[in-house]
Amino acid sequence: MDEYELAVGIDLGTTYSCVGVWQQYRVEIIANDQGNRTTPSCVAFTDEERFIGDAAKNQAALNPVNTIFDSQHKMPGPGPHMMYTLGTGQALSRVSNGRFSPHHCIIYSINAFFGPDMGSFSLWLTSTLGFGASYGSKIEDFIHHPFYYFLFLGYLLSLFYSWASRFLLHKGFLDSISGVPLTKRQCFLLIAAGSLSHFFLDHLFEENGHSSVYTWILSTGWWTSRAPVNPDAVVVVGFLCTCLIVGFIFINRVKSLKQFTKQSNQSVRLIIIVACLYGLWCWSQIYFVDPRRAAVGEEADLGVLVFLGIYFFLPHWLCIMSMNEKDIDMEKQLPH
Ligand SMILES: [Zn+2]
Repeated sequence: MDEYELAVGIDLGTTYSCVGVWQQYRVEIIANDQGNRTTPSCVAFTDEERFIGDAAKNQAALNPVNTIFDSQHKMPGPGPHMMYTLGTGQALSRVSNGRFSPHHCIIYSINAFFGPDMGSFSLWLTSTLGFGASYGSKIEDFIHHPFYYFLFLGYLLSLFYSWASRFLLHKGFLDSISGVPLTKRQCFLLIAAGSLSHFFLDHLFEENGHSSVYTWILSTGWWTSRAPVNPDAVVVVGFLCTCLIVGFIFINRVKSLKQFTKQSNQSVRLIIIVACLYGLWCWSQIYFVDPRRAAVGEEADLGVLVFLGIYFFLPHWLCIMSMNEKDIDMEKQLPH
Protein backbone atom coordinates (compact mmCIF):
# COMPACT_ATOMS: atom_id res chain seq x y z
CA MET A 1 0.00 0.00 0.00
CA ASP A 2 1.25 3.50 -0.83
CA GLU A 3 2.39 5.73 2.01
CA TYR A 4 -0.48 8.17 1.50
CA GLU A 5 -3.22 5.61 1.07
CA LEU A 6 -5.72 5.23 3.86
CA ALA A 7 -7.77 2.29 5.02
CA VAL A 8 -10.35 2.19 7.80
CA GLY A 9 -11.24 -0.93 9.74
CA ILE A 10 -14.16 -1.30 12.15
CA ASP A 11 -14.30 -4.09 14.70
CA LEU A 12 -17.84 -4.52 15.99
CA GLY A 13 -17.46 -6.72 19.04
CA THR A 14 -20.25 -8.12 21.17
CA THR A 15 -19.11 -6.09 24.20
CA TYR A 16 -16.82 -3.37 22.80
CA SER A 17 -16.12 -1.98 19.35
CA CYS A 18 -13.30 0.07 17.90
CA VAL A 19 -12.20 1.84 14.73
CA GLY A 20 -8.67 1.68 13.29
CA VAL A 21 -6.98 3.63 10.51
CA TRP A 22 -4.05 2.42 8.41
CA GLN A 23 -1.80 5.32 7.52
CA GLN A 24 1.93 5.74 6.99
CA TYR A 25 2.57 2.02 7.34
CA ARG A 26 0.91 1.56 10.69
CA VAL A 27 -2.46 1.10 12.33
CA GLU A 28 -3.82 3.73 14.63
CA ILE A 29 -6.84 3.09 16.81
CA ILE A 30 -9.09 6.15 16.86
CA ALA A 31 -10.33 7.40 20.24
CA ASN A 32 -14.04 8.15 20.67
CA ASP A 33 -15.54 11.41 22.01
CA GLN A 34 -14.74 10.25 25.56
CA GLY A 35 -11.08 9.71 24.67
CA ASN A 36 -11.33 5.91 24.92
CA ARG A 37 -9.97 3.61 22.24
CA THR A 38 -12.80 1.15 22.69
CA THR A 39 -16.49 2.01 22.79
CA PRO A 40 -19.10 -0.16 24.50
CA SER A 41 -21.27 -1.89 21.88
CA CYS A 42 -24.38 -0.26 23.23
CA VAL A 43 -27.19 1.91 21.88
CA ALA A 44 -30.17 3.43 23.66
CA PHE A 45 -33.05 5.70 22.79
CA THR A 46 -35.66 7.81 24.52
CA ASP A 47 -38.55 9.75 22.92
CA GLU A 48 -36.26 12.71 22.22
CA GLU A 49 -32.72 11.42 21.98
CA ARG A 50 -30.51 8.54 21.05
CA PHE A 51 -27.28 7.50 22.85
CA ILE A 52 -24.32 5.55 21.57
CA GLY A 53 -21.39 3.88 23.34
CA ASP A 54 -20.35 5.17 26.78
CA ALA A 55 -23.34 7.55 27.00
CA ALA A 56 -25.74 4.69 26.29
CA LYS A 57 -24.03 2.44 28.82
CA ASN A 58 -24.09 5.16 31.52
CA GLN A 59 -27.89 5.58 31.31
CA ALA A 60 -28.57 1.83 31.02
CA ALA A 61 -29.71 1.45 34.65
CA LEU A 62 -32.26 4.29 34.28
CA ASN A 63 -33.59 3.15 30.93
CA PRO A 64 -33.11 -0.62 30.73
CA VAL A 65 -36.04 -1.31 28.39
CA ASN A 66 -34.70 0.91 25.59
CA THR A 67 -31.03 -0.01 25.99
CA ILE A 68 -29.53 -2.66 23.78
CA PHE A 69 -26.29 -4.05 25.13
CA ASP A 70 -25.10 -7.52 24.47
CA SER A 71 -22.91 -7.97 27.51
CA GLN A 72 -21.76 -11.42 26.68
CA HIS A 73 -19.55 -12.98 29.31
CA LYS A 74 -17.11 -15.44 27.86
CA MET A 75 -15.91 -17.15 31.00
CA PRO A 76 -14.65 -20.67 31.15
CA GLY A 77 -17.32 -22.96 32.59
CA PRO A 78 -16.66 -25.55 35.32
CA GLY A 79 -15.25 -28.08 32.82
CA PRO A 80 -12.06 -26.25 31.79
CA HIS A 81 -11.34 -25.27 35.42
CA MET A 82 -11.58 -28.89 36.51
CA MET A 83 -9.55 -30.29 33.60
CA TYR A 84 -6.82 -27.67 33.97
CA THR A 85 -6.32 -28.42 37.68
CA LEU A 86 -6.75 -32.21 37.41
CA GLY A 87 -4.13 -32.20 34.64
CA THR A 88 -1.75 -30.12 36.75
CA GLY A 89 -2.43 -32.37 39.74
CA GLN A 90 -1.63 -35.46 37.71
CA ALA A 91 1.67 -33.97 36.53
CA LEU A 92 2.61 -33.12 40.14
CA SER A 93 1.58 -36.62 41.23
CA ARG A 94 3.80 -38.19 38.63
CA VAL A 95 6.90 -36.14 39.37
CA SER A 96 6.45 -36.47 43.14
CA ASN A 97 5.92 -40.24 43.12
CA GLY A 98 2.49 -39.87 44.69
CA ARG A 99 3.45 -37.34 47.36
CA PHE A 100 0.82 -35.21 45.62
CA SER A 101 -1.87 -37.83 46.10
CA PRO A 102 -5.33 -38.33 44.54
CA HIS A 103 -6.68 -36.61 47.68
CA HIS A 104 -4.56 -33.52 46.84
CA CYS A 105 -5.76 -33.64 43.20
CA ILE A 106 -9.43 -33.84 44.16
CA ILE A 107 -9.38 -31.01 46.72
CA TYR A 108 -7.31 -28.74 44.45
CA SER A 109 -9.67 -29.39 41.51
CA ILE A 110 -12.94 -29.06 43.42
CA ASN A 111 -11.85 -25.67 44.75
CA ALA A 112 -10.84 -24.49 41.28
CA PHE A 113 -13.97 -25.88 39.64
CA PHE A 114 -16.67 -25.01 42.14
CA GLY A 115 -15.04 -22.87 44.86
CA PRO A 116 -15.27 -19.18 43.95
CA ASP A 117 -18.31 -19.89 41.76
CA MET A 118 -20.14 -21.09 44.89
CA GLY A 119 -21.79 -17.67 44.84
CA SER A 120 -23.53 -18.43 41.53
CA PHE A 121 -24.89 -21.55 43.15
CA SER A 122 -26.11 -19.65 46.20
CA LEU A 123 -27.68 -17.07 43.85
CA TRP A 124 -29.57 -19.84 42.12
CA LEU A 125 -30.50 -21.42 45.46
CA THR A 126 -31.78 -18.22 47.11
CA SER A 127 -33.81 -17.22 44.07
CA THR A 128 -35.21 -20.75 43.78
CA LEU A 129 -36.15 -20.80 47.46
CA GLY A 130 -37.78 -17.38 47.02
CA PHE A 131 -35.45 -15.19 49.15
CA GLY A 132 -35.02 -12.84 46.20
CA ALA A 133 -31.88 -12.48 44.15
CA SER A 134 -30.27 -9.48 45.88
CA TYR A 135 -29.03 -11.39 48.94
CA GLY A 136 -27.52 -14.12 46.78
CA SER A 137 -26.01 -11.61 44.38
CA LYS A 138 -24.05 -9.92 47.20
CA ILE A 139 -22.64 -13.26 48.33
CA GLU A 140 -21.77 -14.07 44.73
CA ASP A 141 -19.75 -10.90 44.22
CA PHE A 142 -17.97 -11.29 47.53
CA ILE A 143 -16.97 -14.94 47.21
CA HIS A 144 -16.06 -14.73 43.54
CA HIS A 145 -12.70 -13.22 44.44
CA PRO A 146 -9.23 -14.83 44.29
CA PHE A 147 -8.32 -13.87 47.89
CA TYR A 148 -11.63 -13.35 49.77
CA TYR A 149 -12.70 -16.88 48.89
CA PHE A 150 -9.95 -18.60 50.86
CA LEU A 151 -9.42 -15.86 53.47
CA PHE A 152 -13.03 -16.00 54.62
CA LEU A 153 -14.04 -19.57 53.86
CA GLY A 154 -10.64 -21.30 53.84
CA TYR A 155 -10.55 -22.29 57.50
CA LEU A 156 -14.08 -23.75 57.63
CA LEU A 157 -13.55 -25.51 54.32
CA SER A 158 -10.22 -26.96 55.46
CA LEU A 159 -11.98 -28.52 58.49
CA PHE A 160 -14.53 -30.07 56.15
CA TYR A 161 -12.03 -31.26 53.53
CA SER A 162 -9.65 -32.86 56.05
CA TRP A 163 -12.64 -34.69 57.56
CA ALA A 164 -13.75 -35.76 54.06
CA SER A 165 -10.23 -36.93 53.21
CA ARG A 166 -10.16 -39.14 56.33
CA PHE A 167 -13.64 -40.47 55.57
CA LEU A 168 -12.88 -41.29 51.92
CA LEU A 169 -9.63 -43.04 52.82
CA HIS A 170 -11.03 -45.13 55.67
CA LYS A 171 -14.13 -46.18 53.72
CA GLY A 172 -11.84 -47.18 50.86
CA PHE A 173 -13.42 -44.77 48.35
CA LEU A 174 -10.27 -42.84 47.42
CA ASP A 175 -6.72 -44.07 47.65
CA SER A 176 -3.80 -42.10 48.99
CA ILE A 177 -0.41 -43.48 48.03
CA SER A 178 1.13 -42.46 51.36
CA GLY A 179 -1.79 -44.05 53.20
CA VAL A 180 -2.65 -40.99 55.29
CA PRO A 181 -5.48 -38.44 55.03
CA LEU A 182 -4.76 -34.74 54.49
CA THR A 183 -4.22 -32.36 57.40
CA LYS A 184 -6.08 -29.04 57.78
CA ARG A 185 -2.94 -27.14 56.75
CA GLN A 186 -2.56 -29.16 53.56
CA CYS A 187 -6.24 -28.62 52.76
CA PHE A 188 -5.94 -24.85 53.32
CA LEU A 189 -2.99 -24.60 50.92
CA LEU A 190 -4.94 -26.55 48.29
CA ILE A 191 -8.06 -24.36 48.74
CA ALA A 192 -5.92 -21.24 48.16
CA ALA A 193 -4.20 -22.86 45.16
CA GLY A 194 -7.59 -23.87 43.71
CA SER A 195 -9.00 -20.35 44.06
CA LEU A 196 -5.99 -18.70 42.38
CA SER A 197 -6.03 -21.26 39.54
CA HIS A 198 -9.74 -20.57 39.03
CA PHE A 199 -8.95 -16.90 38.44
CA PHE A 200 -6.03 -17.73 36.14
CA LEU A 201 -8.63 -18.83 33.59
CA ASP A 202 -11.34 -16.32 34.60
CA HIS A 203 -9.08 -13.27 34.22
CA LEU A 204 -7.81 -14.36 30.83
CA PHE A 205 -11.19 -15.00 29.27
CA GLU A 206 -13.98 -13.17 31.05
CA GLU A 207 -15.71 -10.29 29.32
CA ASN A 208 -13.86 -11.12 26.12
CA GLY A 209 -10.56 -10.10 27.68
CA HIS A 210 -11.87 -6.76 28.99
CA SER A 211 -11.74 -7.71 32.67
CA SER A 212 -10.10 -5.04 34.83
CA VAL A 213 -7.10 -7.26 35.61
CA TYR A 214 -6.49 -8.07 31.96
CA THR A 215 -6.82 -4.44 30.86
CA TRP A 216 -4.31 -3.48 33.57
CA ILE A 217 -1.82 -6.10 32.29
CA LEU A 218 -2.09 -4.68 28.77
CA SER A 219 -1.88 -1.09 30.05
CA THR A 220 1.67 -1.71 31.33
CA GLY A 221 2.78 -1.77 27.67
CA TRP A 222 1.13 1.09 25.80
CA TRP A 223 3.06 1.94 22.63
CA THR A 224 0.92 1.74 19.52
CA SER A 225 3.86 1.97 17.14
CA ARG A 226 7.53 0.97 17.52
CA ALA A 227 8.74 2.06 20.94
CA PRO A 228 12.03 4.00 21.10
CA VAL A 229 14.93 1.95 22.42
CA ASN A 230 16.36 3.50 25.59
CA PRO A 231 20.05 2.66 26.08
CA ASP A 232 19.70 2.48 29.88
CA ALA A 233 16.77 0.03 29.52
CA VAL A 234 18.95 -2.22 27.38
CA VAL A 235 21.72 -2.10 30.01
CA VAL A 236 19.41 -2.75 32.99
CA VAL A 237 17.40 -5.53 31.34
CA GLY A 238 20.51 -7.12 29.83
CA PHE A 239 22.29 -7.02 33.20
CA LEU A 240 19.34 -8.59 35.08
CA CYS A 241 18.85 -11.37 32.51
CA THR A 242 22.59 -12.13 32.54
CA CYS A 243 22.56 -12.28 36.35
CA LEU A 244 19.65 -14.71 36.20
CA ILE A 245 21.18 -17.19 33.79
CA VAL A 246 24.77 -16.95 35.12
CA GLY A 247 23.51 -17.17 38.71
CA PHE A 248 21.41 -20.21 37.90
CA ILE A 249 24.37 -22.02 36.33
CA PHE A 250 26.59 -21.05 39.28
CA ILE A 251 24.10 -22.37 41.86
CA ASN A 252 23.67 -25.65 39.99
CA ARG A 253 27.35 -26.27 39.19
CA VAL A 254 28.71 -29.78 39.82
CA LYS A 255 29.58 -30.17 43.47
CA SER A 256 31.01 -33.08 45.40
CA LEU A 257 28.24 -32.90 47.97
CA LYS A 258 24.80 -33.37 46.40
CA GLN A 259 22.29 -31.04 48.01
CA PHE A 260 19.34 -30.93 45.68
CA THR A 261 16.87 -29.17 48.01
CA LYS A 262 19.39 -26.46 48.90
CA GLN A 263 20.22 -25.81 45.23
CA SER A 264 16.54 -25.73 44.33
CA ASN A 265 15.73 -23.25 47.11
CA GLN A 266 18.63 -21.03 46.04
CA SER A 267 17.46 -21.12 42.42
CA VAL A 268 13.91 -20.14 43.42
CA ARG A 269 15.26 -17.29 45.55
CA LEU A 270 17.40 -16.04 42.65
CA ILE A 271 14.43 -16.08 40.24
CA ILE A 272 12.21 -14.22 42.71
CA ILE A 273 14.87 -11.57 43.40
CA VAL A 274 15.59 -10.94 39.71
CA ALA A 275 11.84 -10.92 38.86
CA CYS A 276 11.24 -8.33 41.62
CA LEU A 277 14.08 -6.09 40.41
CA TYR A 278 12.87 -6.44 36.81
CA GLY A 279 9.32 -5.56 37.90
CA LEU A 280 10.59 -2.57 39.93
CA TRP A 281 12.49 -1.28 36.91
CA CYS A 282 9.38 -1.52 34.68
CA TRP A 283 7.25 0.06 37.41
CA SER A 284 9.64 3.01 37.84
CA GLN A 285 9.65 3.69 34.09
CA ILE A 286 5.87 3.63 33.82
CA TYR A 287 4.77 5.33 37.03
CA PHE A 288 7.77 7.39 38.18
CA VAL A 289 9.25 8.92 35.03
CA ASP A 290 7.41 11.84 33.46
CA PRO A 291 6.67 11.43 30.60
CA ARG A 292 6.61 7.67 31.03
CA ARG A 293 8.98 5.61 28.93
CA ALA A 294 8.95 2.13 27.49
CA ALA A 295 10.68 0.00 30.14
CA VAL A 296 11.83 -2.66 27.72
CA GLY A 297 10.26 -2.37 24.30
CA GLU A 298 6.54 -2.02 23.93
CA GLU A 299 5.96 -5.16 25.95
CA ALA A 300 3.66 -5.28 28.95
CA ASP A 301 6.32 -7.05 31.04
CA LEU A 302 5.28 -5.64 34.40
CA GLY A 303 1.67 -6.82 34.06
CA VAL A 304 2.70 -10.19 32.66
CA LEU A 305 5.19 -10.82 35.51
CA VAL A 306 2.71 -9.86 38.23
CA PHE A 307 -0.12 -11.86 36.64
CA LEU A 308 1.94 -15.02 36.18
CA GLY A 309 3.47 -14.67 39.65
CA ILE A 310 0.11 -14.49 41.41
CA TYR A 311 -2.09 -16.69 39.26
CA PHE A 312 0.27 -19.28 37.80
CA PHE A 313 3.45 -19.78 39.87
CA LEU A 314 1.94 -19.12 43.31
CA PRO A 315 -0.83 -21.78 43.07
CA HIS A 316 1.66 -24.36 41.85
CA TRP A 317 4.02 -23.46 44.67
CA LEU A 318 1.14 -23.84 47.18
CA CYS A 319 0.42 -27.30 45.72
CA ILE A 320 4.07 -28.27 46.16
CA MET A 321 4.03 -27.01 49.77
CA SER A 322 0.95 -29.15 50.46
CA MET A 323 2.67 -32.38 49.37
CA ASN A 324 3.20 -35.20 51.84
CA GLU A 325 6.64 -35.49 53.42
CA LYS A 326 8.94 -38.19 52.11
CA ASP A 327 8.90 -40.03 55.43
CA ILE A 328 5.49 -39.49 56.86
CA ASP A 329 5.16 -39.16 60.58
CA MET A 330 2.25 -41.57 60.94
CA GLU A 331 1.53 -40.54 64.54
CA LYS A 332 1.06 -36.92 63.52
CA GLN A 333 -1.16 -37.54 60.50
CA LEU A 334 -3.33 -40.47 61.55
CA PRO A 335 -6.64 -39.54 63.18
CA HIS A 336 -6.85 -40.23 66.88
ZN1 LIG B 1 -15.36 -17.81 38.09
